[in-house]
Amino acid sequence: MLAQVLRRVSRVEDNPLELVELPTPTPGRGEILIKISACGVCHTELDEVEGRLPCRLPVILGHQVVGRVEQLGEGVNRFNIGDRVGVAWIYYACGRCYHCVNGEENLCDNFKGTGCDVNGGYAEYMTVSEDFAYHIPGGLDDTHTAPLLCAGAIGYRALKLTGMRNGETIGLYGYGASAHIIHQVIKSMYPDSKIYVFTRRRNDASSQLAEKLGADWIGVTGDTPPSRLHRAIDTTPSGLVIKEALRNLEKGGRLVVNVIRKETPVPEIEYSEYLWGEREVKSVANITRRDVQEFLVAAARTPLKINVTEFKLSEAGSALLSLKYGRHTGAAVLKIF
Ligand SMILES: [Zn+2]
Ligand SMILES: [Zn+2]
Repeated sequence: MLAQVLRRVSRVEDNPLELVELPTPTPGRGEILIKISACGVCHTELDEVEGRLPCRLPVILGHQVVGRVEQLGEGVNRFNIGDRVGVAWIYYACGRCYHCVNGEENLCDNFKGTGCDVNGGYAEYMTVSEDFAYHIPGGLDDTHTAPLLCAGAIGYRALKLTGMRNGETIGLYGYGASAHIIHQVIKSMYPDSKIYVFTRRRNDASSQLAEKLGADWIGVTGDTPPSRLHRAIDTTPSGLVIKEALRNLEKGGRLVVNVIRKETPVPEIEYSEYLWGEREVKSVANITRRDVQEFLVAAARTPLKINVTEFKLSEAGSALLSLKYGRHTGAAVLKIF
């Protein structure tokens, strides 16, 4: 099979992915072999390539995988050959540690991430335990479904963690793959809420997309919105945004930071000005299978418009560069079969 392999940590500009021919993996006991049709490109992969998130090397990146079951390992009973199937970031959780036992498998001490600790979806085939694969409901085609598996599902987890209630105002800092999906979910779940969007540059393609999707106000980081935010989600690599979002937060409000690593430091904040008044900051770490399942069901009910820019498997390096420099809107997806 063809696969894009990452062998060393490097700047994305130095094009570290190598397109190579590898043996197609064989599914072990309880595993399925997937023929991959589409794999989303996620900001986490920039962190993996550039060394902010340590991974096993060499590795095949990719954790928003959609395909068809090609072969069943011994003992598989949830899937049949030909089923449409998805894989997300959670590849394994032990089921026994403190966090797993308490329903927080995303925090598992032995957590394995797809396309990081094990090979993922920048390839023609991959294997996964049937326990960590998802049936994909109809509706969207494969390319438009791929971004639901991380951008959508983790955005949904972030939204749940904000504690949002209908009628409250929410700020979205950063407007990429995740935010443009979650924007539509918020509109459907909380119809009386206001959604304020903060983008990188004024009138850029992302802010035009936010306008098309009906944002109530659009500005750039540093702007003061028309009213304070009860909830905020930050999906940007900038440390400054944490301070900015706190500055605009209402008393009792909560900021959820949905990134693994910030590329720039978080500035010092003055406690009584930024945190006092029961303001909270919470991070999002990984994802549970339940988040993915719940979100796939919610997504099938909501008429989502997923904005996708397609790349070939051989263009994975260009897709990462495009993501790093914000050259495309919505989600980048590798179209494989
Ligand atoms: Zn991701
Ligand atoms: Zn565990």
